[in-house]
Amino acid sequence: MPMCTVYISGPISNGTKGSDKNMQDNVRIARKVALDLWKIKGIYVICPHLNSPWTTKGQFFNTGMSYNELILKDLKLIEKCDCIFMLKNWEMSEGAILEHFYAEVIGIPIFYFDEIEKLKKFILNRKVHRCHLCLTKGKIKVFRIGPKKYKLCDKCIRAFKEVRESAIKELKDKYLILPKL
Ligand SMILES: [Zn+2]
Repeated sequence: MPMCTVYISGPISNGTKGSDKNMQDNVRIARKVALDLWKIKGIYVICPHLNSPWTTKGQFFNTGMSYNELILKDLKLIEKCDCIFMLKNWEMSEGAILEHFYAEVIGIPIFYFDEIEKLKKFILNRKVHRCHLCLTKGKIKVFRIGPKKYKLCDKCIRAFKEVRESAIKELKDKYLILPKL
């Protein structure tokens, strides 16, 4: 079973009005869900609540980064995950709404707080297709090179075709003298 990386998304600082207690409640809720998810076989859980400087009131660590810088880093992290899991009240968090939207845009599956069973099924039935050459995940086509068949991504197929065309051209230029009509 290929490992499935899940990104947990939900309110951290949003809606807390800067209250440390409310932020800690958000972190506590996320931690509980993360623990439940970790119990699923084949899963790897990314819980930014437990590993990020979002809660900057000195409680955790303060990087001095702006909200925008942090959210961009979170979006980059989502790109590396196989799916996203939305915590309860995610609609109340600006950051979570953005993460949800981004997951839709890049096309990774989205699961909601009451869909743990659905997530389990997804992990169980998931097949990861990777390009034989560059190991990119996603859309893969069967491509024939000589007698062999390879599963390749569009980028690698394009690159191979370019190399083949320029090689053929070079061969023609060097060795074939076509009769002039
Ligand atoms: Zn490739």
